[in-house]
Amino acid sequence: MKSVTVLAGGVGGARFTRGLLAQLAVAAPDAAVTVIANTGDDMWLDGLRICPDLDTIMYTLGGGINEEQGWGRPDETRRASAEIAAYGRGWSWFTLGDLDLATHIVRTDLLRSGSTLSEVTEFLCRRWQPGVRLLPMSDQPIETHACLAENADEHAAGDCIHFEEWWVRYRARVAVTGFEQRGLASAVAAPGVLEAIGTTDLVVLPPSNPVVSVGTILAVPGVREALRSTSARVVGVSPIIGGAAVRGMADACLSTIGVETSALGVGVHYGSRSSGGVLDAWLIDETDAASLPALAAAGIRSAAAPLWMTDLPATTAMAAAVLRLAAEG
Ligand code: GDP
Ligand code: CA
Repeated sequence: MKSVTVLAGGVGGARFTRGLLAQLAVAAPDAAVTVIANTGDDMWLDGLRICPDLDTIMYTLGGGINEEQGWGRPDETRRASAEIAAYGRGWSWFTLGDLDLATHIVRTDLLRSGSTLSEVTEFLCRRWQPGVRLLPMSDQPIETHACLAENADEHAAGDCIHFEEWWVRYRARVAVTGFEQRGLASAVAAPGVLEAIGTTDLVVLPPSNPVVSVGTILAVPGVREALRSTSARVVGVSPIIGGAAVRGMADACLSTIGVETSALGVGVHYGSRSSGGVLDAWLIDETDAASLPALAAAGIRSAAAPLWMTDLPATTAMAAAVLRLAAEG
C-alpha cells in the first residue's frame, strides 16, 4: 500500500482520517494519504472566506481542533464576533472564534491577492502539518443551498438558503425540497484531485455525510468518472449506525433525496462499481449485520465492524477493517 485517497466532509472525515494515519503508521509506514475535502459548505461571512470542512480536517489532523465540539479551536474567545454583532452585522447563530478568525483572515488575504484555494490550503497546512496532502475538491466556489419547503423567519417557501444557515441556524429542522450546488456546472476539480483518485491504491469514502459532503465531491465534474475508472479499490464506511446518523442531522439530508437512513440505504445509494455505482466494498456497523445479505444481493461486498469513532484506538481499528476489506477484494 503506497497511497490512500480519502473523500471527506468535516468532522466524520477528519476523525476517520486520524485513525487511518495511526493504522498506516503501523501497517504501511511509507503510505501517503491525500484527503479531498468537500468545499460545498464554504461561504463568505463578514467579508471573509470560510471553509468549514477544510479547516476541520486541517485542525483535527494538525492537533488544533476543539475535541468536544469537533470543529473550531480549543480555548476560544468570541470577542471579535461580539463586536461584529454590536454593529448588527454577521450571523448571530454562526460563531467565529477569535483564533479561528485568524485563519479566515489569512485565507481571504491570500485569495484576494490571487492565490487559488489549493494554494491557500497548502500554505495554511505548512503551519498545521496535518500529515496528509489536503486538497479542496475544486478551486472554484461551489456553495450548497437548501431549498425550503416551508417559510422560516425572513425566508419564504421556495427560497434556497446557504446550507450552513439551514444546518446551523435551523438545525436542519425546516423541511427542504432539495439541495442546489451553486457554481458546480462551471467548476472543475482542483489540481491533483482526479490524479489522486486515478493513481492511488485505495480510495476511502469515510463516514461523512453521503449527501452534502461525499455527494457534493462526487458531483464535481470528473470525480465520479475517476472513481468509476480507477484501478484502486473503493471502500466506503457507513455514517449511519442502527438507522440513525451518529452525530448531526444527516438523516434530514438523506430523506430529502429519498434515501433511507440506514447502512443498507446509503450502501445501495452509493452502489456497487460493478453496476454503475462507486463502491467495491462497504463497511457497516456490527449492529447492522442483519443487512449483510441484502447488501450482498445488491452486489455490494460488505463486512461488519464496530464503527463508533469514540476514541483513537476505536477509529484506528475501523481503519484496519477498511484496509482488510480492501485487501480481500
Ligand atoms: P461534517 O461536514 O462536519 O458534517 O462532517 P462529515 O460530512 O464528515 O460527517 C458527518 C457524518 O459523519 C455524521 O452525519 C454521521 O453520520 C457521521 N459520523 C460522525 N461520527 C461518526 C462515528 O463515530 N461513526 C460513524 N460511523 N459515523 C459517524
Ligand atoms: Ca461539512
